[in-house]
Amino acid sequence: MSADEFDLIDRIRRRAATTRSDVLLGIGDDAALLQVPAGQALVVATDTLNAGVHFPVDTAPADLGWKALAVNLSDLAAMGAAPAWCTLSLSMPDAEPAWVDGFLEGFLRLAAMHDVALVGGDTTRGPLSVSVTVHGFVDPARALRRAAARDGDDIWVSGTLGDAAAALEQWRANALIDDALRERLDRPTPRLALGRALAGVARAAIDVSDGLLADLGHVCVASGVGAELEVDALPASDALRAGFGGDARRHLQAAGGDDYEVCFTAPEAARDAIATIARNVGIAVTRIGRIVDGQRVSAFDADGNEWHPASAGWRHFSA
Ligand code: ADP
Ligand code: MG
Repeated sequence: MSADEFDLIDRIRRRAATTRSDVLLGIGDDAALLQVPAGQALVVATDTLNAGVHFPVDTAPADLGWKALAVNLSDLAAMGAAPAWCTLSLSMPDAEPAWVDGFLEGFLRLAAMHDVALVGGDTTRGPLSVSVTVHGFVDPARALRRAAARDGDDIWVSGTLGDAAAALEQWRANALIDDALRERLDRPTPRLALGRALAGVARAAIDVSDGLLADLGHVCVASGVGAELEVDALPASDALRAGFGGDARRHLQAAGGDDYEVCFTAPEAARDAIATIARNVGIAVTRIGRIVDGQRVSAFDADGNEWHPASAGWRHFSA
C-alpha cells in the first residue's frame, strides 16, 4: 500500500467516526469488533458497482457514494432488517483525495440518516469499482424471505416504478434528463422504515433492482408459485407520466429496474394493517396483483389483455 492510500484511509477514518456503542473497534485495526444484540440474527448483504457497467463514468462522486450504500440498504429493507454497520471496498485508478471526499459526502450523509457506522474496508488501485457490505439485525422469525409467498396473496409495491429507468433512457438518447427522474436514478431511497414495519406482517419481499417482472419472478421461483400483475395499476410519478405514455411507460415500470422499491406479498387479511403501516412510515404502497397457483408471472392491461414486455429485466448499463 502506498503512502497515498494510507492518507486516504486516514481521511476516511476521521470522517467515519461513530457514536454507536455496538462498535467496539472500528476502522484502524486488522478487523472491526462488533456487538450483535442477543436474540437477533445478523443480516449481511453485499453489492458492487463497477464504472461503465453499473453507473456512467461521469457520475458525480457524491451520487455514487450515496447509491453504493443505498442499493445495499435496500437489500436490508427487503429483509425487514434494521441496518447497523457497513464496510467499503474502494478500487480507484488514482488516489484522488477530492474524489474520495465527494464520494464520502454522499455515502456518509445516507449512513448518518440511518445511523449506520462505517467500520472498515479496503482501498486499492485499479479500475473504478465500489463494493459495499452492510450488516443489520432482524428477528429471524419475522425476516421477509423470498420463499414465503402463498397462493392468493396480494402483491404490493412501495413508492413509484420506472423513474430511474426513464432517466437512463433519456441519458442514453442524449435527451434532456428530467431532474426528478435523475434524482431517482442517482439517489435512490432505501425503504428501511417500511421494510422493518412489514416484518411479521407481510410474507415475502424483494427489492426491485433488476425490474419488477424479473424480481417478482425470483419470489415466485423461490416460493413455488405464479403471479398475475396488473400492469396499468403500477404506481407512476408525475414526472414519469409527463415524459412517457402508453407502452413505453409500461415497459419502464414493469421491466426497467434500478427502482429500489420494495415488492412484497401479504394475505388479504393484512390489507388494513398494511395501509396503517404505509401511513405511519409516510410511504405510499399500491396493490399491483395477486399470487396464483402455478409457475408463470403474467401481466394484464386495464382491458384484461395479457401484456408482454420486450424484455423481462434490466439491461446492465453499457457505455
Ligand atoms: P490490512 O492490510 O490489514 O487489510 P488496510 O491497510 O487495508 O489493512 O486497512 C487498515 C484499516 O483501514 C482497516 O481497519 C480497514 O478496515 C480500514 N480501511 C481500509 N480501507 C478502507 C475504506 N475504504 N473504508 C473504510 N475503512 C477502510
Ligand atoms: Mg486491507
